[in-house]
Parts: sequence; C-alpha cells; structure tokens
Amino acid sequence: MIDLHIHSTASDGSLRPAEVVRLAKKQGLKAIALTDHDTVDGVAEAVAAGEEVGLEVVPGVEISARCPHGTMHILGYFVNYASERLGERLAVLKKARAERNPQIIAKLNRLGIPITMAQVAELSGGGQIGRPHIARALYEGGYVPNLQDAFDIYLRNGGLAHVSKFRFPPEEAIAMIQEAKGIPVLSHPFTLGLNSPKDLEALLLELQDLGLAGLEVYYPEHTPEQEALYLRLARQLGLLITGGSDFHGANKPEVMLGRISCQAKITYHLLEALKAWYQEHYGSSPGITGVLL
Ligand code: AMP
Ligand code: ZN
Ligand code: FE
Ligand code: FE
Repeated sequence: MIDLHIHSTASDGSLRPAEVVRLAKKQGLKAIALTDHDTVDGVAEAVAAGEEVGLEVVPGVEISARCPHGTMHILGYFVNYASERLGERLAVLKKARAERNPQIIAKLNRLGIPITMAQVAELSGGGQIGRPHIARALYEGGYVPNLQDAFDIYLRNGGLAHVSKFRFPPEEAIAMIQEAKGIPVLSHPFTLGLNSPKDLEALLLELQDLGLAGLEVYYPEHTPEQEALYLRLARQLGLLITGGSDFHGANKPEVMLGRISCQAKITYHLLEALKAWYQEHYGSSPGITGVLL
C-alpha cells in the first residue's frame, strides 16, 4: 500500500517531512507522495529521509486553484522541485497566504478573540502558515470546542473571520505543474461543490483539455457512491486513478497515516500507472529527472 496525499510542516501538517517518512515506513507503506499546499519546500528533506530508511518518496505539491462554486485543489506528482520557474510561481501563492493570515487574525481580534500571529506561527512548525494553524490556536485557546468548529464558525468560506486569498485559475495551476514536468491530478473532487455527475463530467472534460491527467478517486471523505462515480468517470475519460489520506498529523487528527478506510485500495499499481504516464509524456523515467534536473 502507498499514500499519494500527505502534508508536512512545510505547509499545515504537524510532522516534519522526515518524520512523515519515518512514520510511513513504520506503518509499512511502500511509497508516499509529499503534497504540501502551494510549496515544495519539504520535498528535499522527505526524499533524503526516504533514501535513509528505504521508502520511495514521490515529489509532489497541492495547488489551490480558483473555483467559483467550491474548493479546487490540483496535485502535481513528480514535479521537478528544483525548478526555478515553479519556485517563482509558488512564491506568488506564498505571498498571498502570508498577507491573508494577519487579516484573519485581525478579524478574530475584532470579534473579541485575542489570538496573535506569534501564537499561530509557533504552531506552524516553521513552514507556511494556513487556516488549520489558526484553527489550532482557536482550539488551544479554548475559543472553540474542536478544530472543525473553528472552521464552521470562523474560518470556512463565509465564516465570521474568513478572508479570501489569491488563487491561480485552473489552467495556470495545471500549466505550472506541466512546466515543472509534473503530473496534474484533481484532488478530492467532492469539494468542488458540483452536485450532478453531468456537471462534474463536463468540468473534468474541460480540465482534461487543459492537461489534467488524473483524478483522486480514493480519499477518506468520499462516500462509497462518490468513490464509485469518480472511478467510473476516471475510467470513462481515461484519467489516471490516485488516492491518498490527506494526512496532516495533529492538525487533522481523525486521519491516520496508513490507517484510513480506503487504504487497501491505494496500492502500488496506481503509482506504476503514474510512472508509465510520465515516461510516455515526458520521455524519461521520473525517478531520474525529478531529482537531478
Ligand atoms: P488554507 O490553505 O489556509 O486555505 O487552508 C486549507 C486547509 O484548511 C485545507 O487543506 C483543509 O485541511 C482545511 N480546511 C479548509 N476548509 C475547511 C473546512 N470547511 N473544514 C475543515 N477544514 C477545512
Ligand atoms: Zn492542508
Ligand atoms: Fe486539498
Ligand atoms: Fe491536501
């Protein structure tokens, strides 16, 4: 078994990249992809740790894209994480995030919740700060009974302290992954906010035209019906099938690495298909270009 969707302290996970790798090894996984939000800053550490403990680590990223009706995240597998161009594009997103956080804190302060950026930064483990860190600060300060309420009341889109943030449109998110020789895959399709299978199919066709290569079919929050629909659509459209836990450590405590309900379906052959796609489209093996370029 493998896990192709994992966050570390480089974004809003609670474990360092090397700690994630060691935990994955301990849990008996054969390969993992590190897919931090809008950054590849943790990948080098994860790859090095993978070499040390003997675990295959796929370089990855998860880019937030503009989506009028919901949340769209696009995974990029085997991106060349040393690419300068990719670094520049991701820097735009990091800046947007850095500007948003103090605005959220200011809104919370105006609501009478005296948490500070310094408290939130301390919870972030040194990487990028995101809403889950603010959720944790709210929880640890006793302002909400659990992390989900922090989102439901304050941080969700439409919540009392929500601040929107710049996102690239899907075509740019896909293009930046392609330019870095990555494989663009749509994350957790249920967050798109599309209720009908027809609408989802139409969007997938549009994204496929832009270069989307795969769909995250296996995901802990997908219902059996959703999983069946996504599997059918992926097969019908010829999209790669992927899956992962979206592990965030203590920042999403209900998800445990290697222990999710759909884990048995997330097997190494999904990764083999990704590698075959890479070879076919980029003309070389991802293991070599991903690290050396
Ligand atoms: P950010 O990147 O700062 O916008 O935060 C995004 C992360 O916050 C996602 O990866 C989720 O883990 C979490 N998140 C976003 N919306 C919600 C929500 N409504 N409920 C729980 N967690 C959420
Ligand atoms: Zn996250
Ligand atoms: Fe996501
Ligand atoms: Fe994620």
